[in-house]
Amino acid sequence: MLAAKPLPEADLKPAHVIAIANQKGGVGKTTTAINLAAALAEKGFRVLLVDLDPQGNASTGLGVATNDRKLTTYDLILSDGRPEAIIRPSKLENLWISPANSDLASADIDLVANEKRSFLLHDALRHPEIDAMGFDVVLIDCPPSLSLLTVNALVAAHAVLVPLQAEFFALEGLSQLLLTVRDVRRSANPNLRIEGVLLTMYDGRNNLAQQVETDARENLGELVFQTIIPRNVRLSEAPSHALPVTSYDPASKGAEAYRGLADEIAARLRR
Ligand code: ADP
Ligand code: MG
Repeated sequence: MLAAKPLPEADLKPAHVIAIANQKGGVGKTTTAINLAAALAEKGFRVLLVDLDPQGNASTGLGVATNDRKLTTYDLILSDGRPEAIIRPSKLENLWISPANSDLASADIDLVANEKRSFLLHDALRHPEIDAMGFDVVLIDCPPSLSLLTVNALVAAHAVLVPLQAEFFALEGLSQLLLTVRDVRRSANPNLRIEGVLLTMYDGRNNLAQQVETDARENLGELVFQTIIPRNVRLSEAPSHALPVTSYDPASKGAEAYRGLADEIAARLRR
């Protein structure tokens, strides 16, 4: 059972929902989901991480064993599962997770026939049991595609955070994603904002990485987070210890960077 936030009703603000999306795989979505979630939780925000990728990497990275995923995000969106039975606390204070496994792989097909197919996650996150859990922030770790699952995340979210690996073609992939964001704005979610574009796996010694950063800042201006996530081996090691980097190696460059990102986002949440 999850305790409700001990605040008078009037103080309850709806959670700020951020979809972490990029149709490319391996750009740092899951790493960002886990470590931003942990860094925000460390600051005292109550955070729910929704694993929306059938690969379930965010769940594994936070230590949810594969045989401990009887109920998953699939049940949250497609079988009227009760959030209290699905969402579980992580090892970290203030951080909860809705885990995923390969059940979600069939979701795209199962969703097509449903007339509310784009709104299922949106509606699930507004379940009274989730309200009662009093989350401040919900982060959604999207699969590497522009599938119906990702569309569900964009419809459910207030904003989208786009990890961008500093490499050739990165910006072209980005424009494809921004077209999908525009479509979602025109149809289901007119208020969807861009939370920001996050440069990931950045190696400052690499000229191409510097060029991608310059291009991104010239073209996207304020939309690019000040914080840059460096390439840092601690970030790639942490999931095999079932820990966010902020616990695995709190003083690492990777941990520092994700705390910096959490600061940027927290400043807007408090406004
Ligand atoms: P996605 O979720 O977009 O597919 P991941 O977050 O799983 O991407 O990252 C892909 C791989 O790169 C993983 O093995 C991860 O550990 C590694 N990785 C991600 N970010 C970094 C980083 N900043 N430094 C080093 N390795 C990273
Ligand atoms: Mg991933």
